[in-house]
Amino acid sequence: MPIYEYRCDGCGEVSSVYLRSFGSADPTSCQLCGGDLRRIISRVAYIRSEMDKLEQLDPKYHKMVDQAIANAPANSDPDYHMNRMVPFSQAKEKGEPYFKE
Ligand SMILES: [Zn+2]
Repeated sequence: MPIYEYRCDGCGEVSSVYLRSFGSADPTSCQLCGGDLRRIISRVAYIRSEMDKLEQLDPKYHKMVDQAIANAPANSDPDYHMNRMVPFSQAKEKGEPYFKE
């Protein structure tokens, strides 16, 4: 949900406005004095780059994996399913994954 900030040409009041979507119409007049509003670059909301998002997700993701491994039963073998997999070329039928019995 986009957040925009507007500064009033009349009184200089800055207001943050949540818009329902990017296509929503801008609010046009100041709630305090009725002056014209001008959209300004928000000080709080900014578009993060995809790289920033990935860097923010990474530590959490690694932590989740570490926790999943720590919570797994002691006798679980991470390679169990990998070792049972066979190449597509050796599968009996197309579609369903095929595991060695
Ligand atoms: Zn105003």
